[in-house]
Amino acid sequence: MSLLFELAESVWPSRCLLCSSPCITGPCCAEHALPRELPGPRCPRCAAKLPDALPDGLECAACRRAPPAFHRAIACWDYWDQPPAREHILAAKHRHRRDLVRYLGSCLRARLGERGVERPVLVPVPSHPARLIERGRDLAALLAGAVAVEVGGELLLALRRARPTRSQGHPLVVDRRRNVRGAITLSRAGRRLSLVGRDVWVVDDVLTSGSTASECARALHRAGARRVGVCVLARADKGGHPTERTEPTGVRSEESPQVNLMSWGSCVELRRSLLHPILPVPEVAS
Ligand SMILES: [Zn+2]
Ligand SMILES: [Zn+2]
Repeated sequence: MSLLFELAESVWPSRCLLCSSPCITGPCCAEHALPRELPGPRCPRCAAKLPDALPDGLECAACRRAPPAFHRAIACWDYWDQPPAREHILAAKHRHRRDLVRYLGSCLRARLGERGVERPVLVPVPSHPARLIERGRDLAALLAGAVAVEVGGELLLALRRARPTRSQGHPLVVDRRRNVRGAITLSRAGRRLSLVGRDVWVVDDVLTSGSTASECARALHRAGARRVGVCVLARADKGGHPTERTEPTGVRSEESPQVNLMSWGSCVELRRSLLHPILPVPEVAS
């Protein structure tokens, strides 16, 4: 597919991005149309679903008991309650589809705009190099890049994984906070940036327990960031769907993951090419 055709299809798609059925309106068929709203009253701090009887905007019990290190979370959809969103995220994660990433990035950009966030500073949740090589792509970084380009924000690759961690949904991970504690630090580029007094948004595809996002927020606060928010495609409440995995990193049986065993060099090259152009990065005044 030529780049021009691919671009045209991402703006005016004639076929559903997931199943190639004809579109009626938007880039999806009726079955895969993405919902416009995140359902139910939500905690403004972590975007968790609240009981229907509670008003929107009330902090949930978990946030009151142990506040996360980020001050606000914005999500487009509910991972468990809105299956088309889950389908899109899994497809973007496990198939190498730039058109899907662009589309999901535009949805995230729209949601940020609705919440009054303009020209955000975006920092993707970092992947460990080993995980990056296994997956062949860094969805959080690609999403952050797509949003930054659309809104004229800043993309800062300010964080890195200092050590590998188990997936937060791994059966051996009992304490999610302990699993990621100390695992995320400033990257070499992050140490050269001036984050002092700035508001920063951590970007990821799905927010589950919030432990990883909190660890990112702590690293950014240590670097001087004033406020750290989290923006994600979907919120997956822990145990939100008792019959399925609680961690949306797996692939359902009918889907075939594309595990791409790339060399480290080509992986870095892929990251550079897909993120190009990296937006201006402010240097610390010497
Ligand atoms: Zn479809
Ligand atoms: Zn909460």
